Amino acid sequence: AEHTLGRLAEESWTRFGDVDSLYYEGTWHRAEALAGRARRAAGGFGAFGIGPGDRVVVMMATCPEVPIVYQALWSAGAVVTPVVFLVGVEELRHIVSDSGAAAVVTSPELLGTVRAAAGETPVVVVGDAPAGTTPFSEIEAARERGAVARDPADLAALMYTGGTTGRAKGVMLTHGGLWHVARAAQEMSHLPGVNRAIVPVPLSHAYGLIVTIAGMHAVEPQQAVLMRWFDPKAFLDLAAGQLVQYGAVVPSMLQMLLAEPLEETELPELRYLTCGAAPLGREVLEEFERRVPGVQILEGYGLTETSAVTTFNPPGRRKVGSVGLPLPGYTITVRDDDGEELEIGDVGEVCVRGEALMRGYWTGDPEEAAPDTAPVPSSTALVGDELYTGDIGCLDDDGYLHIVDRKKDLIIRGGFNVFPRDVEDALNEHRDVLMSGVVGRPDPVHGEEVVAFVQLRPGATATAEELIDWARVRVGRVKYPRELHFTDSIPVTSILKLDRKALRARLGIPGS
Ligand code: ATP
Repeated sequence: AEHTLGRLAEESWTRFGDVDSLYYEGTWHRAEALAGRARRAAGGFGAFGIGPGDRVVVMMATCPEVPIVYQALWSAGAVVTPVVFLVGVEELRHIVSDSGAAAVVTSPELLGTVRAAAGETPVVVVGDAPAGTTPFSEIEAARERGAVARDPADLAALMYTGGTTGRAKGVMLTHGGLWHVARAAQEMSHLPGVNRAIVPVPLSHAYGLIVTIAGMHAVEPQQAVLMRWFDPKAFLDLAAGQLVQYGAVVPSMLQMLLAEPLEETELPELRYLTCGAAPLGREVLEEFERRVPGVQILEGYGLTETSAVTTFNPPGRRKVGSVGLPLPGYTITVRDDDGEELEIGDVGEVCVRGEALMRGYWTGDPEEAAPDTAPVPSSTALVGDELYTGDIGCLDDDGYLHIVDRKKDLIIRGGFNVFPRDVEDALNEHRDVLMSGVVGRPDPVHGEEVVAFVQLRPGATATAEELIDWARVRVGRVKYPRELHFTDSIPVTSILKLDRKALRARLGIPGS
């Protein structure tokens, strides 16, 4: 079979044609209706001049048109460049020009940003389209067209990463790679009869993208309840009202849900939630499972560069505290700073091999990737056929991966390694703490000093001294934060990941 996403979507939407497959804001959409719209839009994009290999930026909050536009573009042979709707003009301008986008597809409320950033690039609007832009309704009024032939090695997505460190780079993901990872993730997570998912993660992030594609690989028809944007109350209402059976979340969503009356919500069908993208505190998982009996949290780990998922904890074989087993097709090696392979149990940099890895970083040519980078301590780099993730972790005797922290966020104080996550975990265990973030500040005496930011729970009264003492007892004299700032909101990225870069910027640290 030809493992390309255009064909995959056509097949699954044909197979499950009469199934209600997407729910959004009160309406279920049938697969055949979505398929018809995507086939017409594929023809429409073609007539608009978009052909094989062209990059098209898609910047919209989640709605049914997002998967329709992805499908149409894949069928037209184009490369999807999803952008989270929160990005600003500067970042979007960089993405549009760096990718050499042939068009930008967006929604009316984002037109201000898009027009400021798009320059001469044509803009397609899903909804009311002002003069000078093209309405998507016109694109999808075209004659239906089937998927053009593509090779599994061809690019399907160009995803810009760098949200939490440095400048955004284009990650080149292929049809075959996304196809493989989505299928493997679907096979590892699927339980018979468990088919109705809630999807609060943005479809523009690698996590949401892979969840979308995974649904098409299913043996049983899948149904997705989409959320425009995560909100804990709306999440519980939807999960209960639509009898949701599983879902895809990130740790901070679970944290926010803990502040809700979980015990009073009827979730009779809910079996599991997959969770990834950022570290999941053990106490969060345990409290959630205690308060929502019958639900398991299944943690996974991955990077945009690995087509979103590298490891996963399958239902029935999960190991709490680990991020799970490598997906079939991926091999994980843990290496020391000299690149030597470490023994089982030893902590070092997590390195990944496998065919679903990105082709490389974008240079401006769909056929060429950026030359191999030497493994720079602190960032993600492709070295030959191996990805140095920039994450620190270890493998255990059973082959499960454990993530300790990110190499780039390591604080070195007086020659001692301080993993900010250890300090954050300790602070988060305090009942008054809602969320915390820890970073290093350059220090003339110790090299770096440990600084904590804390957001308290509503009504909480803990003082900075109390929390510093609490942390000292738990992490010891070397690692405890010498400085602690209260904040009304801990900065997070588009996927609600702790944004340590923004915290460093608050301290005025150059280069952050
Ligand atoms: P940047 O490219 O600047 O790092 P980013 O962190 O947003 O931006 P992504 O590809 O979205 O890039 O995220 C991948 C990273 O997310 C991993 O390298 C890892 O640090 C973190 N991560 C993902 N899943 C987990 C997990 N289960 N536990 C801990 N960390 C995780």
